[in-house]
Amino acid sequence: MSLYITSLNSGSNGNCYYIGNEHEAVLIDAGISCRETERRMRRLGLPMQKIRAIFITHEHTDHTRGTEYISRKYHLPVFITAKTHRHSRMKLDPALVNSFSSDTPVHFGGLSVNAFPKRHDATEPHSFTVSGDGITVGIFTDIGTACEHVIHNLSRCHAAFLESNYDEMMLETGSYPVYLKRRIRGDDGHLSNMQALELFTTYRPPFMSLLVLSHLSAQNNHPEIVYDLFSKNANGTRIVVASRYEETEVFCIEENNVISQKHQPRGNNKGRATNLPSPTSGNGSGQVSLFLE
Ligand SMILES: [Zn+2]
Ligand SMILES: [Zn+2]
Repeated sequence: MSLYITSLNSGSNGNCYYIGNEHEAVLIDAGISCRETERRMRRLGLPMQKIRAIFITHEHTDHTRGTEYISRKYHLPVFITAKTHRHSRMKLDPALVNSFSSDTPVHFGGLSVNAFPKRHDATEPHSFTVSGDGITVGIFTDIGTACEHVIHNLSRCHAAFLESNYDEMMLETGSYPVYLKRRIRGDDGHLSNMQALELFTTYRPPFMSLLVLSHLSAQNNHPEIVYDLFSKNANGTRIVVASRYEETEVFCIEENNVISQKHQPRGNNKGRATNLPSPTSGNGSGQVSLFLE
C-alpha cells in the first residue's frame, strides 16, 4: 500500500499539503482559496470528496486563508487548538471545530494524524505527521528551531515536506529591515537553507525516499539554490522544491523506499518546481505582517 502526497502551494502566499491513501486524505493547512484548492486538486485527478479533515498548524493567514470556505462547502471538520482558533479569527461552524493534542493521534480509516509542538512566532504552533500502511509523511514548515520534536519526527519519515526558507547571504544583504531579519533568523522564525540541510543530513533515516523543500522565501531564496544544495547531499533521497505558484506532482510513497508519480499537472519538470510567477498569482506579500508567516 502507498500514501499519495502533494503540495498544492507552499510559501508565504499560501500553504496547503495533501496526504492520503486510496480511500481518504487530509489537508495540512488550507492557506489558498477554496477555488484554487479545487482547481489544483482537479488538475491532479484528486477528488475533494476524499478529504476527511483539515488540520491547522498555526494561525498565520498563509496557513488558514481557505479554511472557512472549504470547511463550510464540504462539511469538513477542522482540527485546530482553541488558542489558535481564537487568534485566527476564523468563523468556523462550531459543529465542525475539533481540537487536538500532541499525545493523541486522530484516525480516519487507515490514516492517523499526529501533532507535536514546534517553535514559531505564533500562539500554539504545531507540526504534523500522517501515517498509514506503515508509511509516515511529515509536514515541517514554519520552524524557528530544529527542536527535539522535529528531530524525532523527521527521523521516522518515509517522505517529508521540510521548510528551507531563506539563504543566509540573501537575507543578510537583502532589503528587509533589521528587526525583520532578526525575527526570521530567530528561534521562533524560519529555518534557513543550511539549518534545513543540517537537519536533513544528520537525521534523515535510510528509508526516506522523498524530500520536498517547502516554504521558500520569495525575496531571500531561490529554488535553484535549494535544489542544488540538497541534491548534492541527497544520499539517495529524491529532492523536489515545492512552488509558491503551483502544485507539485502527486508522489506515491511506498514502504520499500520507492516513489512513483501518479499524476503530473504539467510537463515533466524532473522534480524541479519552476517557481516562476503565473499571470494569475502574485506573491501575496508586500506587507511586513506576511513575511513571517
Ligand atoms: Zn507560513
Ligand atoms: Zn507562520
